[in-house]
Amino acid sequence: MKITRIFAHRVELPLHETTYRWSGGKSVTVFDSTIVGVETDQGLTGYGEVCPLGPFYLPAYAEGVRAGLRELGPHLLGIDPCQLALLNQRMDAALKGHPYVKSGIDIACWDLLGQASGLPVCTLLGGRFGESVRLYRAISQEDPDIMARKVAAYRAEGYTRFQLKVGGDPDVDVARIRAVRGILQPTDRLVADANTGWTQHEAVRVVRAVRDLDVYIEQPCLSYEECLAVRRATDHPFVLDETVESLDVLLRARGDSAMDVVNLKISKLGGLTKTRQARDLCVSMGIAMTLEDSWGGDITTAAIAHLAHSTPEAFRFTSTDFNSYVTVSTAEGAPRRVNGFMSAATTPGLGIRPRPEVLGPRVVEVA
Ligand code: MG
Repeated sequence: MKITRIFAHRVELPLHETTYRWSGGKSVTVFDSTIVGVETDQGLTGYGEVCPLGPFYLPAYAEGVRAGLRELGPHLLGIDPCQLALLNQRMDAALKGHPYVKSGIDIACWDLLGQASGLPVCTLLGGRFGESVRLYRAISQEDPDIMARKVAAYRAEGYTRFQLKVGGDPDVDVARIRAVRGILQPTDRLVADANTGWTQHEAVRVVRAVRDLDVYIEQPCLSYEECLAVRRATDHPFVLDETVESLDVLLRARGDSAMDVVNLKISKLGGLTKTRQARDLCVSMGIAMTLEDSWGGDITTAAIAHLAHSTPEAFRFTSTDFNSYVTVSTAEGAPRRVNGFMSAATTPGLGIRPRPEVLGPRVVEVA
């Protein structure tokens, strides 16, 4: 099988909650997502998706995905999409860095491998562990009482894990964490995710102020060194996210005992091939994971479901169903949340069928 065409659609994904806010006053109202298609000479087409969290979260932006596909696409025509390691080596040789550009192509090629072999992607990634994948809900940054009310409402929908967007004023953040923990059951898990928003001294103040509470602390500060200093000042379970961009950082963090859980985002690491490598390393090192992406719709959610479902349950801390946050459905067959859980499709590939009427015209076409 050979790649004969690479194309992309730009899709706007508005939010049910209208706006998503996190640290540093950052917010998004409509997500700009790129749906990537890879066509082959066998008549099969695979799909992937890349959706940065705005242009100011990670070193990634939506138009950059499309520009990168135009740059990278011509180097990939004629390659067998089922040879994933070879494909990734070719992408890395043709374009240095820019992992998020490569992610959509890599996901689409896993979809093709699944379609060609008749197997779901989760089987190809290692097997289906357990019946379903437990989800968390991200809670946009608001006043403490509003966040607590939203958590109560999402809890009533079946979620038992919540990721609070903090990283703002430290005193308000303490109130946010207290308000939400106060309405949860002991078995519920709460993560205070600062998304790099606190300085080191602010983070140390916050962790001391909530020392009596059962809460995980996620990526308090911008740099690895600051996070490590905070980690050493607290006995809360600790999660690293934004700073973990390579296997080198994972190994260093393991050596420093800098985290209990790590957040792996598919597009940040460059696709399913590289995220699987990081996932397998974490399993070997005994580090549990949040398996997800920066954002997305149905196709991203399908990719997350296959990655998470193929991960041993003890090491799956959480994942999330981004397609339930947005008002637009881009594909049929994507996972749907049932009582706080989702499952990877059992049909070949990602198990999704894009909705052409939603995708609109192609904005990238390389053939
Ligand atoms: Mg995070």
